[in-house]
Amino acid sequence: MKNNITLITGGSRGIGRATALLLAQKGHTICINYRSQQARAEEVVALIRQRGGSAIAIAADIADEEQVVAMFQQIDRQLGPLTGLVNNAGILQQQASIEQLDARRIATVFATNVSGSFICAREAVKRMALRHGGQGGAIVNVSSAASRLGAPHEYVDYAASKGAVDTLTTGLALEVAAQGIRVNAVRPGLIYTEMHADGGEPGRVDRVKDNLPMKRGGQPEEVAQAIAWLLSDEASYVTGSFLDMAGGR
Ligand code: NAP
Repeated sequence: MKNNITLITGGSRGIGRATALLLAQKGHTICINYRSQQARAEEVVALIRQRGGSAIAIAADIADEEQVVAMFQQIDRQLGPLTGLVNNAGILQQQASIEQLDARRIATVFATNVSGSFICAREAVKRMALRHGGQGGAIVNVSSAASRLGAPHEYVDYAASKGAVDTLTTGLALEVAAQGIRVNAVRPGLIYTEMHADGGEPGRVDRVKDNLPMKRGGQPEEVAQAIAWLLSDEASYVTGSFLDMAGGR
């Protein structure tokens, strides 16, 4: 069986956690990246090991280039050549209108969501590309339906950062298609995670769910299924694609 070694950024909770558990069950060796919540990340690692899988956790702020480079070097040493990257870590800030945004806030959101995704993708490509002696691989970027919808009166800065993730997906997919690397994105809608509390409204999904065509929010496990498929050889002819999973919105 192919030896899949997969890094999931922001794997300590939410969509990243669900993805780590599912990929481990499918036989991937997992590296869970997190920023600060060590206990949560270690809990995911322990669960994977309990179920017979293999995982490590590495703390690194993906907005910090040096920390990202050090994380990839640690993966090289501890796990071997990376075959998969899930660019999942992302942040949003308190709900606000554009009139209330300042440059510092916009830069903070972009540092994690955009720069972090770019730098992680760069380090992954260096290891996967055939021209560098790699074996190819797959990258899945976790974008958002917000990139299409704009998130007015909530977080247009966040939505715009996901627009940049979409463009990264398209551009990188074309750059590395001949290098054995596929790059795709999922665009989830309203998913039950703790992220909405960071935006100031823990109950956000339940507040708006009746406005969605499917009349319900999504579960992290549903997003994980799509990510796992895009990473897998079953999606071997799929690159530069976007999988919208927003309950019909
Ligand atoms: P979440 O529950 O808030 O989890 C975020 C994860 O990212 C945590 O593990 C966190 O680690 C990590 N993280 C945040 N900033 C980081 C940084 N600078 N460096 C490294 N790790 C960092 O989020 P989620 O809802 O699962 O979202 C995951 C992805 O899906 C995000 O990209 C988000 O934009 C996207 N998404 C979510 C929804 C939704 O409705 N939930 C919808 C569309 C798209 P710590 O806990 O250690 O800080």
